[in-house]
Amino acid sequence: MGKVAIIGGGAAGFFAALNISNENEIHIFEKSSELLSKVSISGGGRCNVTNSDFDLANLKEYYPRGNKELRQAFSVFDNTSIFKWFKDRGVHLRTESDCRVFPESDSSAEIINCFLKEANDKNVNIHNGFKVVRINKNDKFKIIFQEKNEDFYCDKIIVATGGISSSKGYNFLQQTGHKIIPPVPSLFAFDSYYSNLIDLEGISLKKVKISVLKRDNYFLKNNYSAEGGFLITHNGISGPAVLRLSSYAARELNMNDYKFVARINFILISDIDFEISFIRDISPSKIISSQSLFGLPLRLWKRICEISGIDTKLKWNDISKKKIHLLKNTLENHPLFITDKTTNKEEFVTCGGVSLKEIDFSTMESKLVPGLYFAGEVLDIDGITGGYNFQSAWTTGYIAAKAICSKR
Ligand SMILES: Cc1cc2nc3c(=O)[nH]c(=O)nc-3n(C[C@H](O)[C@H](O)[C@H](O)COP(=O)(O)OP(=O)(O)OC[C@H]3O[C@@H](n4cnc5c(N)ncnc54)[C@H](O)[C@@H]3O)c2cc1C
Repeated sequence: MGKVAIIGGGAAGFFAALNISNENEIHIFEKSSELLSKVSISGGGRCNVTNSDFDLANLKEYYPRGNKELRQAFSVFDNTSIFKWFKDRGVHLRTESDCRVFPESDSSAEIINCFLKEANDKNVNIHNGFKVVRINKNDKFKIIFQEKNEDFYCDKIIVATGGISSSKGYNFLQQTGHKIIPPVPSLFAFDSYYSNLIDLEGISLKKVKISVLKRDNYFLKNNYSAEGGFLITHNGISGPAVLRLSSYAARELNMNDYKFVARINFILISDIDFEISFIRDISPSKIISSQSLFGLPLRLWKRICEISGIDTKLKWNDISKKKIHLLKNTLENHPLFITDKTTNKEEFVTCGGVSLKEIDFSTMESKLVPGLYFAGEVLDIDGITGGYNFQSAWTTGYIAAKAICSKR
């Protein structure tokens, strides 16, 4: 039917290639010598393929950017579709208790082998070391590569170049007339060098709420908060709640050079007064700092008492109203001055990319350049950690592929 070029041999590009019918001549151009490199290292080498927790009415929680557009796209190909797609090819997926989905083998190699075999069966032409620097369109598309004497002519293109940290990487797309929302990092941990928690490295909590509030951070346009697991690291804080927050507030935190005040609610219970008066009634002569409450690790509880000015000998019977107030405040609203962001090795993505206004999400085709399609993180779409980023790559790649097959 035609010649299709896919720019980028990553998750979205490969998945698109594998879903285009082989009546087409399919070519993947990848700038590096590797294929599917992020799939390989993803999820600590296990590849967190998708997530089973998908409330379509609340996609904003999973995709701070792109949620409206993805709602339509997921009606075509969603997390249940990817289960089936892999199952049909002999790869079985397993859902963990936190809803993340991995191959049963716990190895990204299984996903990669499946893709490479499928690409081979479909006669997909793979060209490594081909970095696209320009696309021109007359009757056909002409693709120009860096340091290559040969150009490539084709009927349709899918751009799947992924998230790119520098704006330069989007130059060839800007030349096609597309608007690029400036890229900034998302999914990072926080450094907090002056934190009074820093020597508690290694302590983790199952669920905290962490917030960045306008009242503490005058540059913020909105309040942001996230709940989830929490970890004190050697130089700050990390864990699912922190990563979520970094995603929700990615752009505004970047604008402030990652210097801001975060507030931590360590306990997330509704009636803290009741809990405190209960412990005072049943253990009036107990030393407050000697036995932790609310399931907090003792080391953290002792530090919380210290921050709240509770003397190491103070008993529940003798605590003043003022001290109770201070203790409650530390438990529910502990301020932490964040000094910088720091990489999360497990997963990081780009907030920003090709403006979604210029894309028709029923086909992933550009509204400006007919025949030019987009898939994956190159778009201004990014999700929280947990498999959501691959899911949007599979979904957008699939839709672009099917749209190409249905067009003559
Ligand atoms: C360490 C790490 C772990 C991750 N783990 C997970 C996970 O477990 N689950 C999850 O959902 N997400 C994970 N992610 C995010 C996920 O990997 C990405 O969202 C996903 O790979 C995006 O797919 P993509 O095809 O759009 O981009 P990519 O996979 O990045 O592929 C883009 C490809 O395009 C190539 N390219 C770029 N520019 C050009 C050019 N001009 N010419 C030719 N080729 C070009 C690049 O070299 C690259 O190979 C992880 C990310 C990282 C960094």
